Amino acid sequence: MEDTVAQLTTSRKQLLQQMTDLSTVLPGSLLSRMVRCNKAGCRFCVKGRGKGHGPILILSVSLGNRQVRQIPIPSELKKEVEESLRAFAQMQKVLKRIAQVNLELFRERKRQRP
Ligand SMILES: [Zn+2]
Repeated sequence: MEDTVAQLTTSRKQLLQQMTDLSTVLPGSLLSRMVRCNKAGCRFCVKGRGKGHGPILILSVSLGNRQVRQIPIPSELKKEVEESLRAFAQMQKVLKRIAQVNLELFRERKRQRP
């Protein structure tokens, strides 16, 4: 049906409008972790007893090819980082849905072939 193609094309347009600002996206996660400074005599890092410093925020970003980068994030940047992570996750969701629609579109166009 011609209708189905038109419908799918419309929903694809709507999905595209849901794409967020891509300039800030970050693929990864924000972890909270205790760290050891390894300074001699540090009372927080005494072997077996000290629980280390923190918790500090670690941004873990996967760059593909099994490459993962981890950097500490100061608390004043937490909100911004979280927004970037959310933007990436949201973008991924929308991309997957667009891909689904495109799959349906090809299916439908195959069906309509004379
Ligand atoms: Zn320490």
